[in-house]
Amino acid sequence: MFIFTLLGLLSMAVIILLAFALMMKMRRMEELNKIIAELKKSLDEMDEQAKLIVRTDLELNKTYEELDHRLNALYALQRISRELSRTLDQNQIFRVLRQEHLQEIGFEKMLILSSRQNNSALQLRHQLGFSQEEAAGIEKSLNQGKTPLLINQITATFSSAQKANKDNPLNPALKQACGLDSFVVLPILKKSGHFGFIILGNSAAQAPLAAGDEELITILATQLGQALDNAELFENAYSQHQELEKKVISRTKELSDALDEIKAVSKRKTDFVSAVSHELRTPLTSIKGYASILLSEKSGPLPQEIKERLVKINKHSDELVHMVNDLLDIARIESGKFEMKLEPVDLKETAAGIIDLLGPQMKEKGIAILPEFPARLSPVLADRTQISRVFINIMGNAVKFVPENTGAIKISALESGDFVQVNIADNGIGMSDEDARRIFEEFYRVDNLINQKVKGTGLGLTLVKNIIRAHNGKIWVESKLNQGSTFSFSLPITKGR
Ligand code: ADP
Repeated sequence: MFIFTLLGLLSMAVIILLAFALMMKMRRMEELNKIIAELKKSLDEMDEQAKLIVRTDLELNKTYEELDHRLNALYALQRISRELSRTLDQNQIFRVLRQEHLQEIGFEKMLILSSRQNNSALQLRHQLGFSQEEAAGIEKSLNQGKTPLLINQITATFSSAQKANKDNPLNPALKQACGLDSFVVLPILKKSGHFGFIILGNSAAQAPLAAGDEELITILATQLGQALDNAELFENAYSQHQELEKKVISRTKELSDALDEIKAVSKRKTDFVSAVSHELRTPLTSIKGYASILLSEKSGPLPQEIKERLVKINKHSDELVHMVNDLLDIARIESGKFEMKLEPVDLKETAAGIIDLLGPQMKEKGIAILPEFPARLSPVLADRTQISRVFINIMGNAVKFVPENTGAIKISALESGDFVQVNIADNGIGMSDEDARRIFEEFYRVDNLINQKVKGTGLGLTLVKNIIRAHNGKIWVESKLNQGSTFSFSLPITKGR
């Protein structure tokens, strides 16, 4: 009995132990199942991600391709733009567009049409991707409609875009005549208005228009418009330049003819003056000779009245000889026959000599003379005798035209560049601007009280001007009526000193 009881207890214990072990196993199984479920979930998630990566990769590839296409198109546009900016001939502008450009932009065919006026026939300006016959056929069919296609009615049209302009009068013609399935039509606008339009398109076999084509072609059409404007501007400027050049050539010819004429007249005048002066000099010399012989009374004494008349004849003859000599010198300098003995001349010394010469005259009239020469003055390259004549004439005039006792003459000199400038200023009668402009003309004398009293020829300053010019110098006067005059002249400095 005890054994049975013991066995019964033992079996119970075993059963309990087994049950416990089973329970533990089941719990373990449960845990394992959970882990498996989680693993499965992770695997599913990984699968999803792998699919996503593949999808993204595909899309990236597509985007790369599109970017590549766009980049190529942009490069092509850049090249076209560069070529367009170099083309200033309206007829050459469209020829810049070539088949390879078209491919790079992503199109198969292109047409550019324009019309001279808004309602005149469309004219084919350039085509790519069509045969000559096809292009001619398209031009014909576009012009065949009952009403002419008005160029300014043609607005931007994108066959594939949502904003496709359904009213564009070109739409049906483009499909039928050109056989284009997808196309872009853009007006080419110049500053002055519509020029024409550009059509770019692909036939059915080709890819449809891609997003972004719109912007590209708009840029191209804008560039074409700008190139046409530039070419027009250039052509206008060029034709104006040509016209101006023609005018300049014809005016230059007229001026040169006029100058030749003036030179010929001037030469005739100089020859005439020279010939007449020569002819006058001989009889004048004999008149003076006879008067002098008679005045010497070698052939017998003369009555006082005759003597006085002979003195007058002598004086007037002297004046005439002086005038004839001046005229001869002017003529000789003008004709270039005057031989000058050029040597370094110290103007300070020359002026001092003339001051000495005119000294008694100035003293008599109570004129103050103020030489203001710098301590060092470069010598000028000149003919000493002729430059003395210049000083005598200008200073002699100054003495003539300054008032008695309050008159003053100031002589100064300065170096300016390669020239020495001499200024001879007086506080005399002066002259008007008009007279100042004319006093260097032959025989010109100002109509004033002094000139009415004192005789003169009006040749002195002409001779002075010719002498200075023959030295490659300049002479001018600044004067104010009743205030005084300043005569200035410049002479070239002797080089190498
Ligand atoms: P001329 O002294 O024989 O009249 P010039 O040719 O030497 O001829 O001078 C022309 C004119 O210029 C003079 O008649 C005179 O009216 C004017 N003129 C020249 N020098 C002076 C001067 N320093 N002041 C005022 N007028 C002058």
